[in-house]
Amino acid sequence: PESGVRHGMDERTPSNTLLELQELTTVFPTRRGEVRAVNDLSFQLHRGEKLGIVGESGSGKSVTLLSILRLVADPGRITRGDVLFRGERLSEKSGKEMRQIRGKDIAMIFQDPMTTLNPAFRVGDQVRESLRIHRVIPPSQGPLARLFDRKRRAGEIQRVQAAMADVGIPAPEESSRRYPHQFSGGMQQRALIAIALSCEPQLLLADEPTTALDVTIQAQIIALLDKINREHGTAIVLVTHNLGLVAEFCENIIVMYAGQMMERGPTERVIEAARHPYTRGLLRCLPRIGVRQDEILPIPGLVPDLAELPTGCPFSPRCSEVLPECSQVDAIPLKTLPDGRSVRCLLY
Ligand code: ADP
Ligand code: MG
Repeated sequence: PESGVRHGMDERTPSNTLLELQELTTVFPTRRGEVRAVNDLSFQLHRGEKLGIVGESGSGKSVTLLSILRLVADPGRITRGDVLFRGERLSEKSGKEMRQIRGKDIAMIFQDPMTTLNPAFRVGDQVRESLRIHRVIPPSQGPLARLFDRKRRAGEIQRVQAAMADVGIPAPEESSRRYPHQFSGGMQQRALIAIALSCEPQLLLADEPTTALDVTIQAQIIALLDKINREHGTAIVLVTHNLGLVAEFCENIIVMYAGQMMERGPTERVIEAARHPYTRGLLRCLPRIGVRQDEILPIPGLVPDLAELPTGCPFSPRCSEVLPECSQVDAIPLKTLPDGRSVRCLLY
């Protein structure tokens, strides 16, 4: 089994586990009652794994990533469950320890790079700052340190330009002197990835990192993430509403709906033969070669209001294969199928 061949998540050994979510539940109080943005979510991620989390907007993908980093904004709260990173419970970490983990072990990149890049500073300086913080560039030491400043600075500039070249920013020397707004969206995202990688994280959480970009640039950023994964062994959680992106990039996939995991398994098997009617619906929305535009069917109905979920399966009002029982039971259990996949659906 340890032949070096990549298998699905069901076939890996537990000692390889980098991240584990255990029944994680994150709620937001609203005027119409508490909503569970993440509802009883459990999964494991192995070292070096590429996992995709897909679902329509509002399904709890971003809150999942923020919950992992314990960055859920007030008044949101994790009410149940835990996150284990390298076997350690993050709920037991102090604020200071969490800041260290966020700065060093788990990095996050967002859909809109400008929310993270500072518009007032040159891109190169921002990359240098993060290389300094993470000691990739060693700090100057001793009483004579200032004497060596010029030499040190030349070394730093080299590191910064190498980091920028590494993420495919052309003409790094010139680019490093530019301000973020002088970069295209794709180049801003590359700069952000250079900053995220400066701490050499074991885990990169990417929240819709290509949604704001056009298709060609999207493919380039995904290729870059793939290169990072291969060359540095960085595990990546890619969150997106675009199932096609996950199909290309991730070994394993989790499909979320209304805060719950509806289906999980190796991407290939899920794409070839999706089990959950919701996953099948998402697949039918994908543009494909040989399928005319007017044959692409969106899932009828709207994403549910979390404050007014139906009893039973949250997808049942939109489901084409709904059974009377679907809205009669309290909650649908997650079932593990013989091939190791999991599905939350009464059809199985
Ligand atoms: P997505 O899958 O699009 O990333 P999110 O994880 O951002 O979805 O949000 C899931 C749900 O959590 C939202 O539909 C909303 O009901 C709730 N939610 C998220 N953030 C907040 C907030 N700051 N205040 C109240 N509710 C929130
Ligand atoms: Mg989101």
